[in-house]
Amino acid sequence: MTIPFANAYQDDGLHPPSTHSPIATELTPMFISLGFDDNTEEEGLSWILELLSNNQNPKGLDRYALQPLKASFFMHCGPAIDNEKIQVLWRQLGESGHEIGNHTLTHPDDKVNYNPLLSWMTAEQWQEEVNACNAFLTLPVAEGGIGVGQISGFRAPFMTYNDNTLMALVNTGIRYDVSFPAGITPEQNGTNNYWPHTLEKGSPSHTFAVNGGWKPAINQYPGLWEVPLHSLIIPPDDTMEKYGINYSLRDKIASRVGYFDPVAGKGDNFDWNLYFTPDWGAAGLNENDVVAIYKYNLDLRLAGNRAPLSLGLHSAFYGLLNGEEHFGMPETTVSSRQNVLKRFIDYALSKPEVRFITHNQLIDWMKDPEHLTLCPESEWKPHQVYEKGETAFFQEQMWRARWWTQLEMPGNTDNSSWQLIESCTPNSVQ
Ligand SMILES: [Zn+2]
Repeated sequence: MTIPFANAYQDDGLHPPSTHSPIATELTPMFISLGFDDNTEEEGLSWILELLSNNQNPKGLDRYALQPLKASFFMHCGPAIDNEKIQVLWRQLGESGHEIGNHTLTHPDDKVNYNPLLSWMTAEQWQEEVNACNAFLTLPVAEGGIGVGQISGFRAPFMTYNDNTLMALVNTGIRYDVSFPAGITPEQNGTNNYWPHTLEKGSPSHTFAVNGGWKPAINQYPGLWEVPLHSLIIPPDDTMEKYGINYSLRDKIASRVGYFDPVAGKGDNFDWNLYFTPDWGAAGLNENDVVAIYKYNLDLRLAGNRAPLSLGLHSAFYGLLNGEEHFGMPETTVSSRQNVLKRFIDYALSKPEVRFITHNQLIDWMKDPEHLTLCPESEWKPHQVYEKGETAFFQEQMWRARWWTQLEMPGNTDNSSWQLIESCTPNSVQ
């Protein structure tokens, strides 16, 4: 059954799952989208806000260059309704250009006996969870709300969703979901993951999970986007030295997480799964382990198809709770987890193609992709054909073709095919 697509993004058209960027890979920015969940603890949230605003994307000529880092925040609305301090922070996030998304009102877990195929929530209950959170987030500040213009994104609590969830998103005019399993089909290896796509035919990873018996089958949702939160590939043993670790990270995780396959090496994405104790079913990793995983997955993408790297995070983990460390994360402290994000961001920003943007900006880009302006590699040659956006040196200056051109000498004249540029993106990938 196909659900008639009734929300505000009807004009999006269909974007089937693809392992190719909509433009040439070498002109495609390496997007990183951080997604923070819950956001009901002040200290961690303040720290994240400051970290993002203190860093900016590398130089270039695209709209994201030199901008402070932007991220997406999926709000557990219930606890914020009576918490003035959290409301202030949420408004600050919105004013700073971060994305505010919906993570339901009460954070329900729609499983029966831990079984994701059995749900207890009705369609009406899902609708109410989504509506009530949206209503609070979009309520004007003067009326006690957060004052967000439009809610575009949704993450399901515990990543548990079904048709009732997705229908509630469509009914509410939400543009995308970021709750599906992703990157889990055998051929996806970190260099060839899927780009964000619309759900007229589901998603390859969701279908794989349905066949494996751990996700419910779903209907079709043309025009509703899915932002893939891919499995992270754990660096294999022969790369450990490069990432500064002298033991097998795959063996470490395999000894702790029963379902981890050390040959395929696909690990969970969420920070919850990376840091919490094996007693609770997680990997219990340390600072260097997680930095290595994040760096390795960025490196795979840069060497591959540059599918956006989305990370699932909880802002609370990056601050103390009432002055205390968190329970249940045996190999890290607040400060070592903060170091993970700082070290990874520093590493990522050393790559000139990297742009940290929100999930919603990612979808804007999918619909209207803007290429990187790569630095020229050679002098202008009269008989060479230059496509729009290509660059050349001429008289010790850098020039970018405004459109297809040949035989026209770069110069600042009216209607010139050439535009003088002062910034560009070095090509770091050989
Ligand atoms: Zn949550």
